[in-house]
Amino acid sequence: MNWHEYVAETGEIPAWPYPLEYGNEKVIESDVLVIGGGVAGCRAAIAALKRGATVAVADRGFSKRSGEGGAGVDHWHGAVTNPCSKITPERYSEAAMETTQGYTNGLARYIIGKEGYDTLLEVEQMGVQIRDEDDEFKGSIFRDDETKLMFAYDLENKHCLRIYGYNIKPAVDKEMRRLGADVYDRVCITSLLTEGGRQGARVIGATGVSDRTGLFYIFKARAVVVSSGRTVRLWSFAPEYTESQSMCNINQTAMGHTIGWRAGAELIMMEQVVPHRLSGMGYAPYSTGNNNNTYQGAPTVDKNGKEVHYATAFGELVYDEKDIFMPSEEGSFVIGHGIALDHGQMPKYKITVTDPKLGEKLRSGEYEQPFYTDFTLLSEQSRRLIFGMMLSNEGKCRVPVYKTLTAWGYDPDQDMLQYPVADYGPQGLIDSSWAGAGQTPAKWKMGGGGFLTDWRLMTSLPGLFAAGCGPLPSQGCHGESHTAGRYAGRQAAVFALKHEAVEPDPEQIAKEKARVLGPVQRGGDVSWKEMNAAVARLMQDYCGDYKTEYTLDMGIRRMKDLMETEGERMYASNPHELARAIESLSLAELGIAYMQAAKARKASCPVLGFFRNDYPDSPEEWHCFVAVCQKDGEVQSRKVPCDYYLQEPYSPVLEENYRKYAELD
Ligand SMILES: Cc1cc2nc3c(=O)[nH]c(=O)nc-3n(C[C@H](O)[C@H](O)[C@H](O)COP(=O)(O)OP(=O)(O)OC[C@H]3O[C@@H](n4cnc5c(N)ncnc54)[C@H](O)[C@@H]3O)c2cc1C
Repeated sequence: MNWHEYVAETGEIPAWPYPLEYGNEKVIESDVLVIGGGVAGCRAAIAALKRGATVAVADRGFSKRSGEGGAGVDHWHGAVTNPCSKITPERYSEAAMETTQGYTNGLARYIIGKEGYDTLLEVEQMGVQIRDEDDEFKGSIFRDDETKLMFAYDLENKHCLRIYGYNIKPAVDKEMRRLGADVYDRVCITSLLTEGGRQGARVIGATGVSDRTGLFYIFKARAVVVSSGRTVRLWSFAPEYTESQSMCNINQTAMGHTIGWRAGAELIMMEQVVPHRLSGMGYAPYSTGNNNNTYQGAPTVDKNGKEVHYATAFGELVYDEKDIFMPSEEGSFVIGHGIALDHGQMPKYKITVTDPKLGEKLRSGEYEQPFYTDFTLLSEQSRRLIFGMMLSNEGKCRVPVYKTLTAWGYDPDQDMLQYPVADYGPQGLIDSSWAGAGQTPAKWKMGGGGFLTDWRLMTSLPGLFAAGCGPLPSQGCHGESHTAGRYAGRQAAVFALKHEAVEPDPEQIAKEKARVLGPVQRGGDVSWKEMNAAVARLMQDYCGDYKTEYTLDMGIRRMKDLMETEGERMYASNPHELARAIESLSLAELGIAYMQAAKARKASCPVLGFFRNDYPDSPEEWHCFVAVCQKDGEVQSRKVPCDYYLQEPYSPVLEENYRKYAELD
């Protein structure tokens, strides 16, 4: 029975189905606490458990399917050491740095290059298919017949694998639980606990609230891994309209960033603001025609069946299927597609795209819209690979798209998929229509940034480790998140087993509990949705494309006003609304962190998409990260070289650092 049927039958709305436990406390003790049970979090838990630590995991959803990776995956990036790859971990890290002019995470990319394939082999042991075991694609250009591995994006260098990952999240979740993780689902972590309750001190736990019962959780831990993902609700908020459609989910509030900011951790790249490509304004992923990502290689035709060709990143048309999957420059390799390196990327590392002159050709009458994806032009094997194997494993696609389309009679052997009419990107290109690139309002943005870490992936706060997409700056995909999670979990276990537990400060806990329970205890007239929408509007107005010191100061002041006025009038009618209210307040705080980071960079930085009208130039002295943090409530900032991980006290040699810090034993 659905909601509507229940209400129609009974004439009333259902009572809250869980016991209310507002004000009650539950204390959990473990060596390691993992905040966020997405793929990074599950892998962190597994690694820490294998190192002999006891582990608690708190997840905002149900960790069997929660997070961006909960609904599957078809591409595994960073399998750099697989037997067919021509890329080394050094090259992977160095190319990532080169293509973004240093504004990425060269350190994490080296670790991922070293361990990404091993991390994948472990999920194979857990029951996830990573090879063409049934020889369905034998002889295909995408397959190595000896290992049966299948490649995507770059058939020359073979470092990104096609995998059958529809069940990957249940598999890692099951393994984490089998090894003994103490998992708390539907708990929203609200703050970090620090030694003596001080900002900038060692992290010794966290607090949380159940979104079913309102029970207040106190997690005590010797080390904490933050793997709570990125945010999608900061510059935009239209959940009824957007959340069911595209890539993101409503639990993504980057709470890890906010609680780290409040606890005094240093954050970098927080001034980066990029267009919100995955806004939810698009269609269900791959339900419409397109030739991007999962559908890379799918042919496009116009109304009259005339084929639109792919082109290299230098604009040269390619006609052969294999050339669509080759680097744009000989000797280079494809890096960056889907791994948060898109900003300012050098063409030689870019993937092939739709003919960049398509807009022009359309206007001249050479092509006529609408356009279609025409799988029939592919060989039977390639058609089955893209529409069958890839689509049915990609996140959010197996049931809503693949099964629905086929159940309703769509047949790729004879039918085409139409592109949305006039779905063109800024240069008149057909863009990835499923992601909403062309449909998203210009002011809807996404922020970058995350924790500054050392070679152990430990943040500037002792005992706090960062992992996964979001907490690790400029790290943005599935395989990378597993790998960084696995590494951070190992490190957290080692830290925990070397450090004594510290009792949290009761005052810090009491203060946080009062803050968290505010919306149910004091009542009010502002809902969490109104609050979130107001935060998003402020971010659009004051932290958009063009910034000045004056407007940023205004934005910070307005956000603080919002928190102190409407924020104090928020109400929550049940634990679900309570957790959402806390998230909305946390988004306001995160917005302030973004604006403080923007204030700290006194220069523009085109590669980060960061422009200040009062500092239009990008002088060399500002070619660096700007680390921001709070100390005793005051904002502090400092410059950090983009390659800090190769400078004193570290070795200039990647491998030496890895050997020294990786805790391989
Ligand atoms: C539809 C879709 C398809 C994708 N396909 C691919 C692909 O083919 N290849 C690829 O490389 N990448 C892909 N990605 C990206 C990839 O899935 C993500 O990069 C990856 O899942 C990130 O993992 P994570 O664990 O770091 O973050 P997430 O998976 O987002 O997990 C974060 C977790 O933190 C929890 N959380 C959040 N806030 C709190 C809080 N306050 N308290 C407690 N818990 C909290 C959430 O519930 C969630 O479980 C895809 C993403 C989507 C959405």
